[in-house]
Amino acid sequence: MRKYNLKRRFKKARARSRAMARRRRKRSRNYLSPAKLGAVCVIAVLVMVFVTRATGLFKDNVVEINLAAQDAEMYVGEDKPVFMAEITCEGDTGVVLDEETEYTVQNLVDELNGGNGYTLESEGDGTEVGEYEIKAELTSAVSTPLNTDWFDKVKVNTVPGTLKVKEIDEEYRASVEARKNRPMIALTFDDGPGRYTMKLLDALEENNAQATFFMLGQNVEKFGDEVAKMKEIGCELGNHSYNHPSLPKLSTDEMKAQIENTNNAIKEITGEPASVLRPPYGATSSEMSETVGMPMVLWSIDTLDWKTKDTQATIDHVLQNVSDGDIVLMHDIYETTVDAAIELIKKLQEQGYYLVTVSELAESRGYELADGEKYYGFYNE
Ligand code: ZN
Repeated sequence: MRKYNLKRRFKKARARSRAMARRRRKRSRNYLSPAKLGAVCVIAVLVMVFVTRATGLFKDNVVEINLAAQDAEMYVGEDKPVFMAEITCEGDTGVVLDEETEYTVQNLVDELNGGNGYTLESEGDGTEVGEYEIKAELTSAVSTPLNTDWFDKVKVNTVPGTLKVKEIDEEYRASVEARKNRPMIALTFDDGPGRYTMKLLDALEENNAQATFFMLGQNVEKFGDEVAKMKEIGCELGNHSYNHPSLPKLSTDEMKAQIENTNNAIKEITGEPASVLRPPYGATSSEMSETVGMPMVLWSIDTLDWKTKDTQATIDHVLQNVSDGDIVLMHDIYETTVDAAIELIKKLQEQGYYLVTVSELAESRGYELADGEKYYGFYNE
């Protein structure tokens, strides 16, 4: 009996002490030290910031810019196309991002439209058939302020595109060969665009012909629709300086500005600068070969259309002198020239000539255009 009671008492005491220990443990779990409280606060703030950014809370105040890489196509083994992006914007583009410089969302959109602030790249290098993602990525010059100072004002969404590398089909291969073996001429037009240029572009398009336009930057700005149409129908866009000075007479900086300003004006409209340069008056210098940074394309047939301003004289001059590989110089700012060119497109095609851009003519004859080099024509050996 005594023995039994002792055992029971001992058991009770042990149960009590266990219960007390449990309570102690529980108390210490519930107790928040200042350090723990601080950590909890920091985590809470981080979570809030993350949720705010991820869900676009306060969306009403954030202007959204979409930067979408455009889909592109190419045949296997060809040169990769130049990737382009489309920039759209929802919201108030007048929002100021930097008080000091008065830099606005519109300025950012303009910069993106000019091809700055992002890169477009694809893993597809054109050597194998398939579909590849074209990745749009912001450069740190744009992504850094977007993630810090501007994050509650503007947001840029990047959307990838697709590069389709296609198998060359026999029909295409045959048409490429046929093009290469046919006699070709490059019609070129200087000093425009002007008010007759659209009429000429319509005729080129109707007859599936291409030409090269060596344009003045000051006219590019006035005739943007014409420049966009040139690109659309496969014509080549050339640089003829900004306002037609004799380039060798300028300082290096002035010369570079003449070329750059025109390239920028063209890029503003088409997304790409000019591919070839024709110096005004055909005037070049040895210094220019070093500094222009573009191939210089002159001509083999000078129609003197600017002097005669005679449609029939211009037509006759070309038809009497032309041969395979020639580069023909005309000026699309004169109505008489445009009328002559429209007639020439038909007549030359009837004679079996293929009317191509300067670069296509060069490529089909195995020339690789080099910066600072001068070219007058591209002939088969
Ligand atoms: Zn000129």
